[in-house]
Amino acid sequence: PVPQQVEILIIGAGPAGAVAAALLRQQGRQVLVLERELFPRFSIGESLLPQSMAYLEQAGMLQAVVQAGFQFKNGAAFMRDGCYTDFDFRDKHSAGWGTTYQVQRADFDQVLAKEAERFGAEVRYRHEVLAVELARPQGGSRVTVRDADGASYQVDAGFILDASGFGRVLPRLLKLETPSNFPVRGAIFTHVEDGIRGAGFDRNKIRVTVHPKHCDVWFWTIPFAGGRCSLGVVAETSFLEQYPGTPTERLQAIVGEEPSLLALLAEAKWDTPARQIVGYSANVEKLWGPGYALLGNAGEFLDPVFSSGVTIAFKSASLAAAALQRQFAGETVDWQADFGAPLRKGVDTFRTFVESWYAGGFQRIIFHPNQQPEVKRMISAILAGYAWDQSNPFVKETPRRLAALEALCTPA
Ligand code: FAD
Repeated sequence: PVPQQVEILIIGAGPAGAVAAALLRQQGRQVLVLERELFPRFSIGESLLPQSMAYLEQAGMLQAVVQAGFQFKNGAAFMRDGCYTDFDFRDKHSAGWGTTYQVQRADFDQVLAKEAERFGAEVRYRHEVLAVELARPQGGSRVTVRDADGASYQVDAGFILDASGFGRVLPRLLKLETPSNFPVRGAIFTHVEDGIRGAGFDRNKIRVTVHPKHCDVWFWTIPFAGGRCSLGVVAETSFLEQYPGTPTERLQAIVGEEPSLLALLAEAKWDTPARQIVGYSANVEKLWGPGYALLGNAGEFLDPVFSSGVTIAFKSASLAAAALQRQFAGETVDWQADFGAPLRKGVDTFRTFVESWYAGGFQRIIFHPNQQPEVKRMISAILAGYAWDQSNPFVKETPRRLAALEALCTPA
Protein backbone atom coordinates (compact mmCIF):
# COMPACT_ATOMS: atom_id res chain seq x y z
CA PRO A 1 0.00 0.00 0.00
CA VAL A 2 1.01 3.63 -0.57
CA PRO A 3 2.49 5.21 2.60
CA GLN A 4 0.25 7.68 4.38
CA GLN A 5 1.42 11.31 4.38
CA VAL A 6 1.56 13.64 7.35
CA GLU A 7 3.21 16.99 8.06
CA ILE A 8 4.33 16.17 11.59
CA LEU A 9 4.56 12.76 13.17
CA ILE A 10 4.91 12.51 16.95
CA ILE A 11 6.09 9.28 18.56
CA GLY A 12 4.39 8.89 21.98
CA ALA A 13 1.33 10.54 23.55
CA GLY A 14 2.85 11.28 26.98
CA PRO A 15 3.12 14.87 28.27
CA ALA A 16 5.77 15.93 25.73
CA GLY A 17 3.90 14.46 22.75
CA ALA A 18 0.47 15.72 23.77
CA VAL A 19 1.60 19.30 24.43
CA ALA A 20 3.62 19.41 21.21
CA ALA A 21 0.62 18.08 19.27
CA ALA A 22 -1.73 20.72 20.71
CA LEU A 23 0.69 23.58 20.03
CA LEU A 24 1.28 22.45 16.45
CA ARG A 25 -2.44 22.04 15.79
CA GLN A 26 -2.92 25.60 16.97
CA GLN A 27 -0.50 26.63 14.22
CA GLY A 28 -2.67 24.74 11.73
CA ARG A 29 -0.26 21.88 11.17
CA GLN A 30 -1.41 18.36 10.40
CA VAL A 31 -0.35 16.15 13.32
CA LEU A 32 -0.37 12.38 13.77
CA VAL A 33 0.55 10.92 17.18
CA LEU A 34 1.45 7.23 17.37
CA GLU A 35 1.23 5.74 20.85
CA ARG A 36 2.30 2.18 21.66
CA GLU A 37 -0.01 1.72 24.66
CA LEU A 38 -3.74 2.01 25.20
CA PHE A 39 -4.58 4.93 27.53
CA PRO A 40 -5.09 5.18 30.45
CA ARG A 41 -1.74 3.54 31.21
CA PHE A 42 0.52 3.78 34.26
CA SER A 43 3.51 6.12 34.18
CA ILE A 44 5.85 7.39 36.87
CA GLY A 45 6.46 11.14 37.36
CA GLU A 46 3.58 12.36 39.48
CA SER A 47 4.63 15.60 41.15
CA LEU A 48 4.50 18.57 38.81
CA LEU A 49 6.35 21.88 39.15
CA PRO A 50 4.57 25.26 38.92
CA GLN A 51 6.60 26.20 35.84
CA SER A 52 4.75 23.44 33.97
CA MET A 53 1.48 25.38 34.36
CA ALA A 54 2.73 28.03 31.92
CA TYR A 55 3.08 25.38 29.21
CA LEU A 56 -0.32 23.83 29.94
CA GLU A 57 -1.73 27.34 29.61
CA GLN A 58 0.14 27.95 26.36
CA ALA A 59 -1.16 24.64 24.97
CA GLY A 60 -4.75 25.52 25.90
CA MET A 61 -4.98 22.59 28.34
CA LEU A 62 -5.08 24.37 31.67
CA GLN A 63 -8.84 24.33 32.16
CA ALA A 64 -9.04 20.59 31.51
CA VAL A 65 -6.25 19.93 34.01
CA VAL A 66 -7.77 22.19 36.68
CA GLN A 67 -11.18 20.55 36.24
CA ALA A 68 -9.77 17.05 36.55
CA GLY A 69 -9.55 17.56 40.34
CA PHE A 70 -5.96 16.59 41.04
CA GLN A 71 -4.25 17.21 44.38
CA PHE A 72 -3.18 20.87 44.80
CA LYS A 73 0.56 21.39 45.32
CA ASN A 74 2.31 24.51 46.60
CA GLY A 75 5.79 23.35 47.51
CA ALA A 76 8.33 20.75 48.55
CA ALA A 77 9.24 19.53 52.02
CA PHE A 78 12.43 17.77 53.07
CA MET A 79 13.04 15.60 56.11
CA ARG A 80 16.35 14.26 57.48
CA ASP A 81 16.94 12.68 60.89
CA GLY A 82 13.78 14.25 62.27
CA CYS A 83 14.68 17.72 60.88
CA TYR A 84 12.01 19.25 58.65
CA THR A 85 12.36 22.10 56.16
CA ASP A 86 10.09 23.23 53.37
CA PHE A 87 9.75 25.58 50.42
CA ASP A 88 6.53 27.35 49.54
CA PHE A 89 6.71 27.85 45.78
CA ARG A 90 4.47 30.92 45.96
CA ASP A 91 7.36 32.62 47.74
CA LYS A 92 10.00 32.60 45.03
CA HIS A 93 12.34 34.83 43.04
CA SER A 94 10.85 34.25 39.56
CA ALA A 95 7.52 35.56 38.32
CA GLY A 96 4.82 33.07 37.33
CA TRP A 97 2.76 30.25 38.78
CA GLY A 98 3.60 29.20 42.34
CA THR A 99 1.20 26.27 42.58
CA THR A 100 0.46 23.15 40.60
CA TYR A 101 -0.74 19.55 41.09
CA GLN A 102 0.26 16.05 42.11
CA VAL A 103 -1.26 13.68 39.60
CA GLN A 104 -1.86 10.03 38.92
CA ARG A 105 -0.22 9.94 35.53
CA ALA A 106 -2.67 7.43 34.06
CA ASP A 107 -5.39 10.09 34.44
CA PHE A 108 -3.24 13.15 33.78
CA ASP A 109 -1.72 11.82 30.55
CA GLN A 110 -5.16 10.81 29.32
CA VAL A 111 -6.50 14.32 29.95
CA LEU A 112 -3.62 15.82 27.95
CA ALA A 113 -3.97 13.34 25.08
CA LYS A 114 -7.71 14.01 24.87
CA GLU A 115 -6.98 17.72 24.78
CA ALA A 116 -4.56 17.17 21.89
CA GLU A 117 -7.36 15.34 20.08
CA ARG A 118 -9.79 18.16 20.87
CA PHE A 119 -7.40 20.50 19.03
CA GLY A 120 -7.52 18.17 16.03
CA ALA A 121 -4.49 15.93 16.41
CA GLU A 122 -5.04 12.32 15.39
CA VAL A 123 -3.88 9.96 18.14
CA ARG A 124 -3.59 6.26 17.27
CA TYR A 125 -3.30 4.05 20.35
CA ARG A 126 -1.55 0.69 20.27
CA HIS A 127 0.38 1.78 17.22
CA GLU A 128 4.08 1.22 17.79
CA VAL A 129 6.86 2.84 15.79
CA LEU A 130 9.30 0.12 14.76
CA ALA A 131 11.70 1.76 12.30
CA VAL A 132 12.54 5.15 10.91
CA GLU A 133 14.27 6.10 7.69
CA LEU A 134 15.27 9.74 8.24
CA ALA A 135 15.78 12.57 5.76
CA ARG A 136 15.28 10.53 2.60
CA PRO A 137 16.73 11.95 -0.66
CA GLN A 138 13.20 12.45 -1.98
CA GLY A 139 12.38 14.49 1.17
CA GLY A 140 10.79 13.74 4.51
CA SER A 141 11.20 10.62 6.62
CA ARG A 142 9.49 7.22 6.42
CA VAL A 143 8.26 5.52 9.56
CA THR A 144 7.26 1.87 9.88
CA VAL A 145 4.44 1.24 12.33
CA ARG A 146 2.80 -1.88 13.81
CA ASP A 147 -0.89 -1.43 14.54
CA ALA A 148 -3.08 -2.99 17.26
CA ASP A 149 -3.74 -6.06 15.08
CA GLY A 150 -0.05 -6.64 14.44
CA ALA A 151 -0.17 -5.39 10.84
CA SER A 152 2.56 -3.06 9.57
CA TYR A 153 2.16 0.11 7.56
CA GLN A 154 4.23 3.13 6.64
CA VAL A 155 3.86 6.86 7.11
CA ASP A 156 5.85 9.59 5.35
CA ALA A 157 6.36 12.58 7.62
CA GLY A 158 7.73 16.06 6.96
CA PHE A 159 9.15 16.20 10.47
CA ILE A 160 9.37 13.77 13.39
CA LEU A 161 9.16 14.66 17.07
CA ASP A 162 10.32 11.75 19.19
CA ALA A 163 8.37 11.96 22.45
CA SER A 164 8.67 8.23 23.21
CA GLY A 165 9.98 8.71 26.77
CA PHE A 166 12.04 5.79 28.06
CA GLY A 167 11.13 4.05 24.76
CA ARG A 168 13.83 6.38 23.31
CA VAL A 169 12.99 5.33 19.76
CA LEU A 170 15.28 7.63 17.77
CA PRO A 171 18.24 7.66 20.20
CA ARG A 172 18.27 3.86 19.96
CA LEU A 173 17.76 3.63 16.21
CA LEU A 174 20.28 6.41 15.48
CA LYS A 175 22.70 5.32 18.22
CA LEU A 176 22.64 8.77 19.81
CA GLU A 177 22.79 7.50 23.39
CA THR A 178 25.81 8.42 25.47
CA PRO A 179 26.43 7.17 29.00
CA SER A 180 25.07 9.29 31.84
CA ASN A 181 27.74 10.41 34.30
CA PHE A 182 25.47 9.64 37.25
CA PRO A 183 25.94 6.29 39.00
CA VAL A 184 23.26 3.77 38.05
CA ARG A 185 20.32 4.37 40.35
CA GLY A 186 16.92 2.78 40.51
CA ALA A 187 13.59 3.33 42.19
CA ILE A 188 11.05 1.02 43.84
CA PHE A 189 7.62 2.58 44.19
CA THR A 190 3.92 2.01 44.71
CA HIS A 191 0.62 3.71 45.48
CA VAL A 192 -0.91 3.24 48.94
CA GLU A 193 -4.15 4.13 50.71
CA ASP A 194 -2.04 6.24 53.04
CA GLY A 195 -4.24 6.53 56.16
CA ILE A 196 -2.23 9.61 57.21
CA ARG A 197 -4.18 11.61 59.79
CA GLY A 198 -3.39 14.75 61.74
CA ALA A 199 -2.06 18.16 60.85
CA GLY A 200 1.61 17.13 60.85
CA PHE A 201 1.63 16.13 57.20
CA ASP A 202 1.22 18.78 54.50
CA ARG A 203 -0.66 17.13 51.64
CA ASN A 204 0.05 20.16 49.44
CA LYS A 205 3.74 19.34 49.24
CA ILE A 206 5.85 16.50 47.98
CA ARG A 207 7.93 15.19 50.87
CA VAL A 208 11.47 14.02 50.25
CA THR A 209 12.92 12.05 53.17
CA VAL A 210 16.63 11.29 53.36
CA HIS A 211 17.66 7.82 54.59
CA PRO A 212 19.12 8.17 58.10
CA LYS A 213 22.36 6.35 57.24
CA HIS A 214 22.88 7.11 53.54
CA CYS A 215 22.53 10.70 52.31
CA ASP A 216 22.25 9.51 48.69
CA VAL A 217 19.22 7.30 49.41
CA TRP A 218 15.89 9.09 49.61
CA PHE A 219 12.15 8.47 49.65
CA TRP A 220 9.32 10.38 48.03
CA THR A 221 5.80 10.68 49.38
CA ILE A 222 3.49 12.40 46.91
CA PRO A 223 -0.04 12.76 48.26
CA PHE A 224 -2.90 12.46 45.78
CA ALA A 225 -6.48 13.63 46.12
CA GLY A 226 -8.69 11.07 47.87
CA GLY A 227 -6.35 9.82 50.61
CA ARG A 228 -3.87 8.02 48.42
CA CYS A 229 -0.17 8.57 48.17
CA SER A 230 2.66 7.67 45.85
CA LEU A 231 5.61 6.27 47.76
CA GLY A 232 9.04 5.42 46.41
CA VAL A 233 12.69 4.99 47.27
CA VAL A 234 15.64 5.97 45.07
CA ALA A 235 19.13 4.55 45.55
CA GLU A 236 22.07 3.12 43.67
CA THR A 237 21.15 -0.28 42.28
CA SER A 238 23.86 -1.93 44.42
CA PHE A 239 21.98 -0.66 47.51
CA LEU A 240 18.58 -1.83 46.29
CA GLU A 241 19.95 -5.27 45.39
CA GLN A 242 20.73 -6.01 49.05
CA TYR A 243 17.03 -6.40 49.79
CA PRO A 244 15.45 -9.76 48.94
CA GLY A 245 11.84 -10.52 48.10
CA THR A 246 9.14 -8.98 45.98
CA PRO A 247 9.39 -5.25 45.11
CA THR A 248 6.72 -4.58 47.78
CA GLU A 249 8.67 -6.49 50.46
CA ARG A 250 11.88 -4.69 49.50
CA LEU A 251 10.23 -1.26 49.61
CA GLN A 252 8.66 -2.07 52.99
CA ALA A 253 12.03 -3.18 54.35
CA ILE A 254 13.76 0.05 53.27
CA VAL A 255 10.89 2.24 54.52
CA GLY A 256 11.25 0.39 57.83
CA GLU A 257 14.73 1.90 58.26
CA GLU A 258 13.40 5.49 58.40
CA PRO A 259 11.51 6.12 61.65
CA SER A 260 9.54 9.22 60.54
CA LEU A 261 8.29 7.49 57.40
CA LEU A 262 7.45 4.32 59.27
CA ALA A 263 5.36 6.37 61.72
CA LEU A 264 3.74 8.40 58.93
CA LEU A 265 2.66 5.26 57.08
CA ALA A 266 1.69 3.22 60.15
CA GLU A 267 -1.95 2.98 59.00
CA ALA A 268 -1.21 2.66 55.28
CA LYS A 269 -2.87 -0.07 53.20
CA TRP A 270 -0.39 -1.47 50.74
CA ASP A 271 -2.95 -2.42 48.13
CA THR A 272 -0.87 -2.10 44.94
CA PRO A 273 2.14 -4.28 44.04
CA ALA A 274 5.30 -2.15 43.95
CA ARG A 275 7.29 -1.76 40.75
CA GLN A 276 10.95 -1.19 40.08
CA ILE A 277 12.72 0.87 37.46
CA VAL A 278 16.51 1.00 37.16
CA GLY A 279 19.06 2.86 35.08
CA TYR A 280 16.71 5.56 33.87
CA SER A 281 19.29 8.36 33.56
CA ALA A 282 20.27 8.94 29.96
CA ASN A 283 22.19 11.40 27.84
CA VAL A 284 22.23 11.90 24.09
CA GLU A 285 24.85 13.20 21.69
CA LYS A 286 22.42 15.71 20.24
CA LEU A 287 18.79 16.66 20.72
CA TRP A 288 17.97 17.24 17.05
CA GLY A 289 19.11 16.40 13.54
CA PRO A 290 17.85 16.66 9.97
CA GLY A 291 14.08 16.20 10.10
CA TYR A 292 13.76 15.34 13.79
CA ALA A 293 13.96 16.61 17.37
CA LEU A 294 13.92 14.70 20.67
CA LEU A 295 11.42 15.79 23.31
CA GLY A 296 11.20 15.04 27.04
CA ASN A 297 12.66 11.77 28.20
CA ALA A 298 13.41 10.63 24.68
CA GLY A 299 16.22 13.19 24.94
CA GLU A 300 17.84 13.42 28.34
CA PHE A 301 16.68 12.28 31.74
CA LEU A 302 18.57 13.34 34.83
CA ASP A 303 17.08 12.16 38.07
CA PRO A 304 13.73 12.28 39.86
CA VAL A 305 14.83 14.17 43.01
CA PHE A 306 13.56 17.60 41.98
CA SER A 307 10.50 16.39 40.00
CA SER A 308 11.75 18.22 36.92
CA GLY A 309 10.91 15.60 34.26
CA VAL A 310 7.47 16.69 33.09
CA THR A 311 8.46 20.37 33.18
CA ILE A 312 11.46 19.65 30.94
CA ALA A 313 9.21 17.57 28.67
CA PHE A 314 6.81 20.52 28.29
CA LYS A 315 9.65 23.01 27.77
CA SER A 316 11.08 20.85 24.97
CA ALA A 317 7.66 20.64 23.31
CA SER A 318 7.20 24.39 23.50
CA LEU A 319 10.64 25.16 22.05
CA ALA A 320 10.22 22.61 19.23
CA ALA A 321 6.75 23.91 18.31
CA ALA A 322 8.07 27.49 18.10
CA ALA A 323 10.99 26.39 15.91
CA LEU A 324 8.68 24.38 13.64
CA GLN A 325 6.32 27.34 13.27
CA ARG A 326 9.19 29.38 11.82
CA GLN A 327 10.43 26.48 9.71
CA PHE A 328 6.99 25.94 8.15
CA ALA A 329 6.80 29.71 7.50
CA GLY A 330 9.87 29.30 5.29
CA GLU A 331 12.50 30.66 7.66
CA THR A 332 15.80 28.89 8.19
CA VAL A 333 15.85 27.59 11.73
CA ASP A 334 19.05 27.10 13.66
CA TRP A 335 17.91 24.11 15.74
CA GLN A 336 20.93 24.28 17.99
CA ALA A 337 20.46 27.97 18.84
CA ASP A 338 16.66 27.82 19.04
CA PHE A 339 16.07 24.36 20.52
CA GLY A 340 19.10 22.32 21.65
CA ALA A 341 21.04 25.04 23.50
CA PRO A 342 18.14 26.73 25.34
CA LEU A 343 16.70 23.36 26.40
CA ARG A 344 20.07 22.17 27.72
CA LYS A 345 20.54 25.42 29.66
CA GLY A 346 17.74 24.64 32.11
CA VAL A 347 18.56 20.93 32.16
CA ASP A 348 22.12 21.82 33.15
CA THR A 349 20.86 24.03 35.99
CA PHE A 350 18.88 21.07 37.34
CA ARG A 351 21.89 18.81 36.74
CA THR A 352 24.10 20.95 38.99
CA PHE A 353 21.44 20.85 41.72
CA VAL A 354 21.06 17.07 41.36
CA GLU A 355 24.83 16.55 41.64
CA SER A 356 24.91 18.75 44.74
CA TRP A 357 21.98 16.84 46.27
CA TYR A 358 23.75 13.48 46.01
CA ALA A 359 27.12 14.86 47.13
CA GLY A 360 25.36 16.23 50.22
CA GLY A 361 26.01 19.95 49.66
CA PHE A 362 22.45 20.88 48.74
CA GLN A 363 21.20 19.02 51.80
CA ARG A 364 23.53 21.10 53.99
CA ILE A 365 22.03 24.23 52.41
CA ILE A 366 18.38 23.39 52.91
CA PHE A 367 18.78 22.02 56.45
CA HIS A 368 21.00 24.91 57.54
CA PRO A 369 19.48 26.68 60.58
CA ASN A 370 20.07 30.20 59.23
CA GLN A 371 18.25 30.69 55.94
CA GLN A 372 18.61 34.00 54.13
CA PRO A 373 15.14 34.84 52.80
CA GLU A 374 16.39 36.30 49.50
CA VAL A 375 18.59 33.27 48.75
CA LYS A 376 15.81 30.92 49.81
CA ARG A 377 13.48 32.59 47.29
CA MET A 378 16.05 32.03 44.51
CA ILE A 379 16.32 28.35 45.38
CA SER A 380 12.55 28.09 45.73
CA ALA A 381 12.22 29.39 42.15
CA ILE A 382 14.48 26.64 40.81
CA LEU A 383 12.69 23.97 42.82
CA ALA A 384 9.46 25.38 41.31
CA GLY A 385 10.92 24.69 37.87
CA TYR A 386 12.05 28.18 36.83
CA ALA A 387 15.43 26.89 35.70
CA TRP A 388 15.46 29.07 32.58
CA ASP A 389 15.01 32.44 34.32
CA GLN A 390 18.28 34.28 33.74
CA SER A 391 17.35 36.94 36.31
CA ASN A 392 17.99 34.31 38.99
CA PRO A 393 21.72 34.27 39.90
CA PHE A 394 21.40 30.53 40.65
CA VAL A 395 20.32 30.01 37.04
CA LYS A 396 22.79 32.39 35.46
CA GLU A 397 25.84 31.02 37.28
CA THR A 398 24.61 27.77 38.78
CA PRO A 399 27.88 25.97 39.65
CA ARG A 400 29.63 29.04 41.08
CA ARG A 401 26.65 30.24 43.14
CA LEU A 402 25.80 26.82 44.48
CA ALA A 403 29.42 26.06 45.41
CA ALA A 404 29.68 29.40 47.25
CA LEU A 405 26.48 28.72 49.19
CA GLU A 406 27.57 25.15 50.01
CA ALA A 407 30.83 26.53 51.40
CA LEU A 408 28.90 29.01 53.58
CA CYS A 409 26.75 26.18 54.95
CA THR A 410 29.63 23.80 55.66
CA PRO A 411 31.02 23.82 59.20
CA ALA A 412 34.69 24.83 59.26
P1 FAD B 1 6.47 9.50 28.71
O1 FAD B 1 5.57 10.08 29.69
O2 FAD B 1 7.28 8.30 29.11
O3 FAD B 1 5.64 9.14 27.40
C1 FAD B 1 6.22 8.43 26.33
C2 FAD B 1 5.14 7.68 25.58
O4 FAD B 1 5.72 7.13 24.39
C3 FAD B 1 4.58 6.51 26.37
O5 FAD B 1 3.17 6.63 26.48
C4 FAD B 1 5.01 5.28 25.58
O6 FAD B 1 4.02 4.25 25.60
C5 FAD B 1 5.18 5.84 24.17
N1 FAD B 1 6.11 5.06 23.34
C6 FAD B 1 7.31 4.53 23.71
N2 FAD B 1 7.86 3.87 22.68
C7 FAD B 1 7.01 3.99 21.63
C8 FAD B 1 7.03 3.51 20.28
N3 FAD B 1 8.05 2.76 19.80
N4 FAD B 1 5.98 3.82 19.47
C9 FAD B 1 4.94 4.57 19.94
N5 FAD B 1 4.87 5.02 21.21
C10 FAD B 1 5.89 4.75 22.04
N6 FAD B 1 8.85 13.82 36.59
C11 FAD B 1 8.15 14.80 37.21
O7 FAD B 1 7.86 15.82 36.56
N7 FAD B 1 7.77 14.68 38.52
C12 FAD B 1 8.09 13.59 39.26
O8 FAD B 1 7.72 13.51 40.44
C13 FAD B 1 8.87 12.56 38.65
N8 FAD B 1 9.20 11.44 39.33
C14 FAD B 1 9.91 10.45 38.70
C15 FAD B 1 10.31 9.31 39.39
C16 FAD B 1 11.06 8.31 38.78
C17 FAD B 1 11.50 7.10 39.54
C18 FAD B 1 11.43 8.46 37.41
C19 FAD B 1 12.24 7.42 36.72
C20 FAD B 1 11.02 9.59 36.70
C21 FAD B 1 10.29 10.58 37.33
N9 FAD B 1 9.89 11.73 36.63
C22 FAD B 1 9.21 12.72 37.27
C23 FAD B 1 10.19 11.89 35.21
C24 FAD B 1 8.96 11.62 34.34
O9 FAD B 1 8.57 10.28 34.49
C25 FAD B 1 9.28 11.88 32.88
O10 FAD B 1 10.16 12.94 32.75
C26 FAD B 1 8.06 12.17 32.03
O11 FAD B 1 7.15 11.11 32.10
C27 FAD B 1 8.50 12.41 30.60
O12 FAD B 1 7.40 12.55 29.75
P2 FAD B 1 7.53 12.16 28.21
O13 FAD B 1 6.33 12.71 27.55
O14 FAD B 1 8.87 12.56 27.69
O15 FAD B 1 7.55 10.56 28.20
